[in-house]
Amino acid sequence: MPTRVLYMEERRGQDPDPCYLREFDARIVERGPDYVVLDQTAFYAEGGGQPTDTGVVRWPGEEARVLRVQKDKGVIKHVVDRMPAVDEVRGIIDWDRRYAHMRFHTSQHLMSGVVWRIFGARTVGNQLYTDHARVDFQPANFTPEDLQRIEAECNGVVGAAQDVRIFEEDRVVVDRKIGDRSLLDLIPVSIRRLRVIQVGDADYCPCGGTHLRNSSEIGGINILEKRSKGKETDRIVYELRPRA
Ligand SMILES: [Zn+2]
Repeated sequence: MPTRVLYMEERRGQDPDPCYLREFDARIVERGPDYVVLDQTAFYAEGGGQPTDTGVVRWPGEEARVLRVQKDKGVIKHVVDRMPAVDEVRGIIDWDRRYAHMRFHTSQHLMSGVVWRIFGARTVGNQLYTDHARVDFQPANFTPEDLQRIEAECNGVVGAAQDVRIFEEDRVVVDRKIGDRSLLDLIPVSIRRLRVIQVGDADYCPCGGTHLRNSSEIGGINILEKRSKGKETDRIVYELRPRA
């Protein structure tokens, strides 16, 4: 049985929202030399430009640090600093770190949507951290005025406090809506229903990550610099302003 991924559950207004789940109960279903596999998890496994979650798994009177979470041939492994003595544990995520990642990841959706709409440039790479992020666009050769416009357009959506929706949609519909913008070819053809993220009216794209509920939580985007990464590829590096 694959691990049930709790932050992937459908967003239906439940409290807490699946992406905001900080703690959960789980059962250990497999033990490796330095990792455990759980029947369900809210930990994000490193991938798609977003670093791993960290935290602890706790059992009566004791706990182990979760040093990193990684996907290995579809198996989600929680690498721990010691083996839990029992199978029933409580997982607790380092929330400040995860929430920073969620803010950057959601802001990256927003920027990718804005750049696609204005410049017709695709997002070809991204990496985020707790204090900054970078996104690579192609084809692109942004002027200082372009960067100002991207920043202003993004911050307009942040200021408008738009909902971030997460829902399932048929692959054929998603393909028709996004056209050349994203490489759906990378998703196995056997998957017919896709999890779609919509950031207000600024971005619509399939994604399996963790997302804010509202664009206002981004706080604001502050572009630090752009770097040319070779032929027709520009990298934008940015930080986030504190939440209002
Ligand atoms: Zn996403």
